Amino acid sequence: MEETRDQVIQSELAQVKQKAPLIEGVTLVTCVELSVRLSIKVTGQKHVTLIVMFPPKYPHEPLIMELKSKTLSEKLLDGLLKVCDEQAKKWLGQRQILLLTNFVLNFLHENPLCVCSDEIQTVKKNLLTSDDSLKLKQKTAEIGLKIKQDKYFMNIRIGVPEGYPAKQVTDVIFFSVEVDEHNYPELLKTNFAGQAIEIARRCVQPPLKKKPKDPPFQIKASLLPVCTFLVESLKKYPRMLCPLCKEQALPTNPDEKLSDPRKKVERVYCGHLFHFGCLKRYLRTPPFADGKMCPDCGKQIFHEKWKLSPQLAEARWAHKQARERELAEVMDFLE
Ligand SMILES: [Zn+2]
Ligand SMILES: [Zn+2]
Repeated sequence: MEETRDQVIQSELAQVKQKAPLIEGVTLVTCVELSVRLSIKVTGQKHVTLIVMFPPKYPHEPLIMELKSKTLSEKLLDGLLKVCDEQAKKWLGQRQILLLTNFVLNFLHENPLCVCSDEIQTVKKNLLTSDDSLKLKQKTAEIGLKIKQDKYFMNIRIGVPEGYPAKQVTDVIFFSVEVDEHNYPELLKTNFAGQAIEIARRCVQPPLKKKPKDPPFQIKASLLPVCTFLVESLKKYPRMLCPLCKEQALPTNPDEKLSDPRKKVERVYCGHLFHFGCLKRYLRTPPFADGKMCPDCGKQIFHEKWKLSPQLAEARWAHKQARERELAEVMDFLE
């Protein structure tokens, strides 16, 4: 004879009481006929509460279920709930609570990127064009970004650490940013990756020098700021003009071999790109008094290769002028 609904429920409640606490990461909060509530936790961020109720025709109908979380996004929970509901339809006639609990637990284990699902949606919606792509690699907890601008491209892998975004910085990393392939100048690649890591660091690490009026430091999610920086930079640089000659700084065709070393680009402290030849001429031409400013943004030009004090620049200029005068005199003499 088939068990009645009540018999099924009573025996299932007894089974849940006995077995749920044995599953790693699962805590039984309440277990009564009106509702069963389980806490399912993989990390501090991957934590949901599963609430289930028995429908009138149980077990020949799926459980009535609800998911709550303080850390995961509503949209993700909605999606997960739909998947759970589909799954429960395959378990009709069976005791569903433990099956469902394990299903949710597995989902959290196998989808480490669920902790940044909102940020990923925003990146897709607000930053990428139809030329770009974003792929989730749940197995390695990585996000693959392929960004294109004109003839330039960069493929980037961003690794999201376990415990994101509240990762304690003392433990290690916030993030890894690896560039797989690209055709931007090498110096820009190094710069973009380095700056991306720095942006991520500032989201989780309080500033060394705290200003008295600063509000207390709070850890922020870093994926969106990092992707915003990377995508905007990769889109902007291929069309950036040299502030001096007002021509495009990078060659239109990235594969073009530069025969003229003066057309190589230099990126200075303010972020603007200059042709090597243009910058060199500019830095060596007076006035030097207050240092040299970027014509586009007015910030002083700093560059590793050009640590030139105004005095030294002045002296070099004077020396060059003297040489030219000497040459001129010699020329005069020859006439
Ligand atoms: Zn130029
Ligand atoms: Zn500038």
